[in-house]
Amino acid sequence: MSKSYLESHPDENGFFGKFGGAFLPPPLEGPFAEITKEYKRLKNDPEFIAELKYVRKHYQGRPTPISYAKNLTEHCGGAKIFLKREDLNHSGAHKLNHCMAEVILAKKLGKTKVIAETGAGQHGVALATAAAYFGLECEIHMGQVDIEKEHPNVVRMKILGAKVVPATHGLQTLKEAVDSAFDAYVPQADTALFCIGSVVGPHPFPLMVRDFQSVVGHEAKEQFLEMEDALPDYVVACVGGGSNAMGIFSGFIDDKEVNLTGVEPMGRGNKLGEHAASLTYGEEGIMHGFNSIMLKDKDGEPAPVYSIGSGIDYPSVGPEQAYLSSIGRTTVGLCNDEEAVDAFYKLSQLEGIIPALESAHAVAYAMKLAKEIGPEKTILINLSGRGDKDIDFIVEHHPVPNAKF
Ligand SMILES: *Cc1c(COP(=O)(O)O)cnc(C)c1O
Repeated sequence: MSKSYLESHPDENGFFGKFGGAFLPPPLEGPFAEITKEYKRLKNDPEFIAELKYVRKHYQGRPTPISYAKNLTEHCGGAKIFLKREDLNHSGAHKLNHCMAEVILAKKLGKTKVIAETGAGQHGVALATAAAYFGLECEIHMGQVDIEKEHPNVVRMKILGAKVVPATHGLQTLKEAVDSAFDAYVPQADTALFCIGSVVGPHPFPLMVRDFQSVVGHEAKEQFLEMEDALPDYVVACVGGGSNAMGIFSGFIDDKEVNLTGVEPMGRGNKLGEHAASLTYGEEGIMHGFNSIMLKDKDGEPAPVYSIGSGIDYPSVGPEQAYLSSIGRTTVGLCNDEEAVDAFYKLSQLEGIIPALESAHAVAYAMKLAKEIGPEKTILINLSGRGDKDIDFIVEHHPVPNAKF
């Protein structure tokens, strides 16, 4: 039998076609080689697998259900819409799927500490949660501008026992947080593990984070078959770095009849700086240690990006997303701020589910698609997270619409 897609990608050096790899400063080559070697061993280690299964079931709340969105389906008047409920994970999003596994990996490597960057603070909170559970120290680097903007997440991280280190150079946002976290990691590599927050960064992170997220797709396939006695026609997820999308795509990637769509944020428009649609408008380049498609400014540096969903405003995408899109296995959908806000309220008022603004991008795209493809078809959305973190911002800037839809 030929190997499955997941078994055969990436290659030995962490490449998906020409995308991926590990472009590291020399001091980090050793530590990353060690992580790769250990992960290969642990991946098939029954103890590691058993521990992960245990925490997923008894702490995280897995399996998460699939909900049929009956009212939203009727409202749209087309394909049946289903939601994979990653918003029901402990801490409110899919990110804990890879954070719990990364911290178990750190423990197995004999480390006492985890270090990471965070943009809006979502990855920082998930990692701080996992570190608290497993009793490891946690150090999160965050741009000073983001620290001021994302105050509640900073407080959460501190309550969970993490140390928050401000990055005070340059634009003081995500890119500077990554620089700061890498600088802090180099002298601590013996005792700490760097934990990346999506399917990005140098090999082996795009591989590991995908594997850790693939539980979403494997559960979803089984659940969907049980509910509908068929595979979904479309699987839709929002794409920032691409981890929740890779998670759900993993379950269906060898089923060629299932269309896989990653939705990118069009923000306020198609001018550079107004969106974060990296696959749609980007070009090949190396950033943060891997080769992928990225949005560049006129000097070839990562361009400033914007989206109302602060977890998807990243100027690049994971290498596997770039690869799958380049070979036509996935397609790219688009959704702007306004459509995302509309979907945020519709899902809240028609289904009683307040989605994260990131996830609302996938919902908005699916609503357009449902009408287009008609009532005989089905769409499965990965609802990556819940919207509690967004409610203060939303009611201030986009007040609740008067009429129920
Ligand atoms: C971080 C985040 C995302 C974006 O990250 P991916 O790696 O693209 O999945 C999407 N949704 C939610 C709720 C998030 O917190």
